[in-house]
Amino acid sequence: MSNISIVGAGQVGATLALLILDRKLGNVILVDCVEGLAKGKALDMMQAGALLGFQNSIIGTDDYSEIKESEIVVITAGVPRKPGMSRLDLLKKNSEIVSSVVKEITAFAPESIILVVTNPLDVMTYLAYEISNFKPNRVLGQAGVLDAARMKYLIAQECKVSAQEISTMVLGGHGDSMVPIISQTTVSGKPLVELLSKEAIERVIEKTRSGGAEIVSLLGTGSAYYAPATATVTMLEAIVKDTNALLPASAYLDGEYGLKDIYVGVPVRLCKEGVKEVVEISLTDKEKEALHKSAAIYRESIRSIGV
Ligand code: NAD
Repeated sequence: MSNISIVGAGQVGATLALLILDRKLGNVILVDCVEGLAKGKALDMMQAGALLGFQNSIIGTDDYSEIKESEIVVITAGVPRKPGMSRLDLLKKNSEIVSSVVKEITAFAPESIILVVTNPLDVMTYLAYEISNFKPNRVLGQAGVLDAARMKYLIAQECKVSAQEISTMVLGGHGDSMVPIISQTTVSGKPLVELLSKEAIERVIEKTRSGGAEIVSLLGTGSAYYAPATATVTMLEAIVKDTNALLPASAYLDGEYGLKDIYVGVPVRLCKEGVKEVVEISLTDKEKEALHKSAAIYRESIRSIGV
């Protein structure tokens, strides 16, 4: 049984913990700086286990030494967006939080894989890589699985099909510059461009980009967590079960897609070592250009926090 730590017992972290337990992926160590919060949620989940029937365990703590046996540490600590905010508006506050969390990870779980969820995602993942000094395959971020799920949902609505029939990728940074890869999007094997009008596809792209903001504005306080936690457990499952699944993730690029020394969303194979490889799928010139533009935005943000 793997030991998976989650730092941040808020909406995303706690939902993710229950998904890990319910899917029997490992024992969970839930850490939060607010005394009692992680402990209380862990106790609640263990009681749910009496009904759900999982045998794996969860402990809640504010003591980082508890993460010491962890193979994977997920970072969900940080502040979420408020209505009207972009993910980049979280940069300063969450940089401080992620920096302090990563220092604890390097002290207590130096052999772990770090999976970042905190926004702005691609910048926080780069920061985790820089501070941890871990090999790049052991530091990655979750965003593309979520963005692709949002896009699948929207295409399913437009085409009146099951979302399971849709294959797609959303690459680039997790923000307004994200790049839905329409050229590779299929519905039951048929190219999307043969099924929907240009206008309908534009509508899907726009709504995919604003999917998170729509939820933020509806909730009034906090941001989305059910789909983000489900996207994260999808990546964890591939890592824990060593499946080599091809999924989009914020990964370190060393020349792939013509980009160097940056974290941005690209297709990767996930295995028990983390990122097995960055897979270069064929993109149209327009998609390539959009990916480079997106990377340039995140490079600028990385520079702005001095890493
Ligand atoms: P939340 O406010 O519900 O939870 C955050 C938790 O982090 C809180 O419980 C807080 O006490 C804790 N925390 C803060 N600083 C900490 C520290 N130094 N050590 C330990 N714990 C600390 O927020 P949420 O809705 O769970 O969102 C968490 C983060 O995930 C936000 O930055 C949000 O923008 C991001 N997010 C990312 C995605 C994605 O797809 N990558 C999706 C949704 C949310």
